[in-house]
Amino acid sequence: MAVVVTRSLLWRKENRGKRPAGNSQSLPAISFLSHTESWLKHVWADRWLCCTEHTAFVWCPRCSLPTEVQKAQGFSLGRSQQWVRCCVFSSRWETCWFRVELSIPPEWAGQEVHFVWESDGEGMVWRDAQPVQGLTKEGEKTSYILTSSLKEAEPHSLTLYVELACNGLFGAGKGSMIAPPDPDRRFTLSKAELVVFNRDVYELLVDLEILLDMAQLLGEENQRSFQALYAANQIVNVCDVKDPSTFPAARELAAVIFSQRNGESHQHTIHAMGHCHIDSAWLWPYEETIRKCARSWVTVIRLMEHNPELTFACSQAQQFEWVRSWYPGLYAQIQDYVAKGQFIPVGGTWVEMDGNLPSGESMVRQFLQGQRFFQEQFGQICSEFWLPDTFGYSAQLPQLMCGCGIKRFLTQKLSWNLVNSFPHHTFFWEGIDGSQVLTHFPPGDSYGMHGRVEEMLKTVKNNKDKGRVNHSAVLFGFGDGGGGPTQNMLDRMKRMSDTDGLPRVQISTPDRFFSVLEKESSQLCTWVGELFLELHNGTYTTQAQIKKGNRECERILHDVEVLCTLAVAQGGTFQYPASQLQQLWRLLLLNQFHDVLPGSCIQLVVRDALQYYAEIRRAGSRLQEEAVQSLCGELLQLKSGRIEVPASEADWGETRGSSSTAGNFTPPQLPKARVCDICVLFSQEDGSITMENGLIAVCLDAMGLSHLLPASGESVADGCRANQFALFDDVPLYWDAWDVMDYHLETRKPVTMLLKPLEITLAGGLRGSASFSLQVGESSTLTQEIILDAMCPYIRFKTQVDWKESHKFLKVEFPVQVRSTNATYEIQFGHLQRPTHWNTSWDWARFEVWAHKWMDLSEHGFGVAVLNDCKYGASAHRNVLSLSLLRAPKSPDATADIAHHQFTYAVMPHQGSFQDAGVIQCAYNLNFPLHAVPASSMQCLAWSAFSLSSPAVVLETVKQAEDRPEAVVVRLYEAHGSTVVTWLQTSLPIKEAMLCDLLERPTAKGHLPLEQQGVRLSFKPFQVLSILLVLRQ
Ligand SMILES: [Zn+2]
Repeated sequence: MAVVVTRSLLWRKENRGKRPAGNSQSLPAISFLSHTESWLKHVWADRWLCCTEHTAFVWCPRCSLPTEVQKAQGFSLGRSQQWVRCCVFSSRWETCWFRVELSIPPEWAGQEVHFVWESDGEGMVWRDAQPVQGLTKEGEKTSYILTSSLKEAEPHSLTLYVELACNGLFGAGKGSMIAPPDPDRRFTLSKAELVVFNRDVYELLVDLEILLDMAQLLGEENQRSFQALYAANQIVNVCDVKDPSTFPAARELAAVIFSQRNGESHQHTIHAMGHCHIDSAWLWPYEETIRKCARSWVTVIRLMEHNPELTFACSQAQQFEWVRSWYPGLYAQIQDYVAKGQFIPVGGTWVEMDGNLPSGESMVRQFLQGQRFFQEQFGQICSEFWLPDTFGYSAQLPQLMCGCGIKRFLTQKLSWNLVNSFPHHTFFWEGIDGSQVLTHFPPGDSYGMHGRVEEMLKTVKNNKDKGRVNHSAVLFGFGDGGGGPTQNMLDRMKRMSDTDGLPRVQISTPDRFFSVLEKESSQLCTWVGELFLELHNGTYTTQAQIKKGNRECERILHDVEVLCTLAVAQGGTFQYPASQLQQLWRLLLLNQFHDVLPGSCIQLVVRDALQYYAEIRRAGSRLQEEAVQSLCGELLQLKSGRIEVPASEADWGETRGSSSTAGNFTPPQLPKARVCDICVLFSQEDGSITMENGLIAVCLDAMGLSHLLPASGESVADGCRANQFALFDDVPLYWDAWDVMDYHLETRKPVTMLLKPLEITLAGGLRGSASFSLQVGESSTLTQEIILDAMCPYIRFKTQVDWKESHKFLKVEFPVQVRSTNATYEIQFGHLQRPTHWNTSWDWARFEVWAHKWMDLSEHGFGVAVLNDCKYGASAHRNVLSLSLLRAPKSPDATADIAHHQFTYAVMPHQGSFQDAGVIQCAYNLNFPLHAVPASSMQCLAWSAFSLSSPAVVLETVKQAEDRPEAVVVRLYEAHGSTVVTWLQTSLPIKEAMLCDLLERPTAKGHLPLEQQGVRLSFKPFQVLSILLVLRQ
């Protein structure tokens, strides 16, 4: 049937709802497009030629399945029979195995035969005891190619097994994707068929799809849209659906259009790379991810067999490790394709971690564990950092990447910004120390594209730097829940490789792509500082127990490494527990995955994560005890443990610049001469209590609200009280666990319901404290002990909350007498400033930000810092410092944070700058309380393992070098933001010192002379240095 095509047809498509100019009578009666669409449908329905007699017998071997399954045994399958509800089972992440016996009819000789399987549960085909094909309806994978052309010699009868999981690509949420899993959800197998695949028809359909997209999307001003439309029209005329002999002529018509090339220079080049974003846990537990990896990756291998040009960028060493241990046969095939350069490990990290909350050392370990794994398994480290889907990127990341052999970075998450559109897609990203990495955001704003014309055109249109560089990346393949690329995606892009009017689309690799960018990078702009995501700011607070587990386990592994290293350095028989530490680190790193540490996961994941933390705590304390035993030997009394010693200046003195456990193992001698510095408490008649210790004084009312008085005077704003709790309504638009919206600030309600007034609990001396209780919201309670230690410059608020709220947000506020347009927040190995005002959209979009152990608001000569031991959400608006304490989202975990919580924060008014006042050291003291070990009466000489001459430098990490038992790695950073020279002294028996990178590879000219004062180190602001110290044996 011929179709009249006019300009107004296109016009009508693009301007729906408006009357076209000119004579509307000229519109054709039959739209070419709708005609084609119905034709498409007809062909699709016929695409699977089903066999009615030669059946696939399928049964489930599990005897415990519901009766419907039993009925399904021996069920004859055929086109006429809709095989639905043959098997239903619950959603508790079960697996069900099916045996499939196939018999291919001999008359299908020469045909392409597929086994088709459709279910809303994810499946995998096994053949000869190996996984061969993932089956995921939502990922458009419902068939396994049995043969591309059936030969007589091929087996016509065979047995397959299908492993079916009771979860879809996105878990098993009730109603909405992010709703908690539905325990009553049933999964259905709806189709299992043996079919002949009609590839000619399929190819023709892909041709038509591309032509139609060109016609619709290129716009009426573009000549090519008309050419595509006319070609499609002719194809419809030429093609007789019932007569396959007409197909080649029809395809010829399409080929003419696709082979008309672009001009020499003007077209943008798109580097398409297969990808499959698999969240290591999210709406499904870790265990399910292992299967998701296998399903997705085995499908990629099948595709590579048929498409030798296909490349696939694959991140997360942990997932490789899972497949290595659970699917060794598949892993061997992956190794082959890695060697061929098609299956390409990227990212360099253990998992795609959260980009904000892990400590600096954790981030180093993400790379160290990841890059070492890739080196070991594939003979090379990754040269691109790959983190397309996390909720913001720390300004310290560029330096850490560079230190781990990476100068290129790919993400796209900032396209999710709710307020501001990020101004670049290709640019240099500069961190707080000045390190730069070449960064690309695929302008299609997705890491799971489908190779459609629309996406290619969007990629070019969106690209904000296309005048500077003429290349963009496209990542294609179903993602998040896995899935990966499909044949269809590849076939679409083949037609767009160089077709006039469309961008050039080439299958590429991350290396080829970034190499081109590097060559064209001279005009690129630079973005300095953090890549802040203006969304998902609730993830700094959600699932407080995971946050606490992370902070605590980071500390535990730090302490174990220090103690074990010192024990080894002492000589003797102590063995560094390298493999156990590796295993514990990997658990911690896994929990830093970008839906686990942020708390945006289901309850099952939370349970697993907390178990991993418990394992780290358990094993960590055992390892620590062993190291202490070896270090202190007979000095020890029988029992040892960690006791809290009042933090004081004395704690820090000896090891200034290092964390308190590094080399300061014996408890400090409290100076007897300074008895005047004890803490004193007074009760007033009005119920208020004053606490002071000579450094700081605080006046607390019955509700624990305080004036703060540093030695010089009042630091709380007039008429205000510090330590004010406030509750906010917290109902985001959609992403419950993820988002806190700016409008929550309009619902602030101070917490005023007193349950138990303030009373003194410790009378003073070395420590004084007072406690009180409040009711929070409808049914939650909060009890707080406010503690002041002798000689300690900060007051601690040891807090317990029984939290039972729904969609509420609890914060504590400190309105301080400080005026500054910027507040300072600790980040990984440094700090940065963010505004305290909302002048511009970029400023107010940061109404809720993240910080690590401290935040500070200072004016010249004076300031107030708020420290914490396990919180990450914070804000500073005008003169109010707020620490975010607890949220209560209901999706995807309906029970999120409904629990008993314990946490401590502290407030520290100070003279001078926060650097000079020692805020950074105090935050370390709060987070790393001293270990004290009961000793026998034998005298022990005090000794210090390390000391530094500059207070600006922090010795963060002491560990044994990887693969070098005779060497110690120490990692230090400049914490004040200054250029300094410091001397590192150590009492360890070292014979050689050299600078190394974060992967512990010695740097060229990195040799450091050992001098009288120690090792001389020079730092630039926020620079991180790692040093290999080789021990004398
Ligand atoms: Zn993700």
